[in-house]
Amino acid sequence: MLKRLLLIALLCTPVAAWAFFKPVRIVAPELAGVSCIGDSLCTDDVSRYEQASKLYDEALSFVGASIGSIEDKPRVIFCSSDACFQSFGLGKRSAATIGTFGIVISPRAWKPYYVRHEMIHHLQNEKLGVFGAWNDPQWFIEGMAYSLSEDPRPKLSEPFEHYRSQFDHWYRQTGKDRLWEEARKL
Ligand SMILES: [Zn+2]
Repeated sequence: MLKRLLLIALLCTPVAAWAFFKPVRIVAPELAGVSCIGDSLCTDDVSRYEQASKLYDEALSFVGASIGSIEDKPRVIFCSSDACFQSFGLGKRSAATIGTFGIVISPRAWKPYYVRHEMIHHLQNEKLGVFGAWNDPQWFIEGMAYSLSEDPRPKLSEPFEHYRSQFDHWYRQTGKDRLWEEARKL
């Protein structure tokens, strides 16, 4: 009984958390005044579609080549206005990945390493499962995203700088081939 209750609690928590992210907007971004071109790319400013599309393709092939291929291409919503980003209820962050539903990019995150960073989170959710990724330590989840996206900032704000060095140290010993197998043990 207790086990069953725990399972129910576990299953319900992320759903409750997602409610704050207004997930319906990610599944149906048209509600946030965003237009989608195809299944995987949406933006509130269609005049910047080409730029968004370039960032998308670059990040997808970068992550595929350097870490592992993404099974289901994520839907990415490129917000060029703050109003668009804020309509997803994501607060002060620059970008966010919600499970495997999609990624939202804020106006200041239209940069290759930001889009790669979020696609790495998407890949983590695919490979480890949303619950697995949720349970993995932050130094691994964020450290990996900052490190393997090749974020050019020499010093990140803490705790992210610390997470990145901890991940780099771990990855040097683990290597690419055993990455997911070892990540599941963390
Ligand atoms: Zn991150």
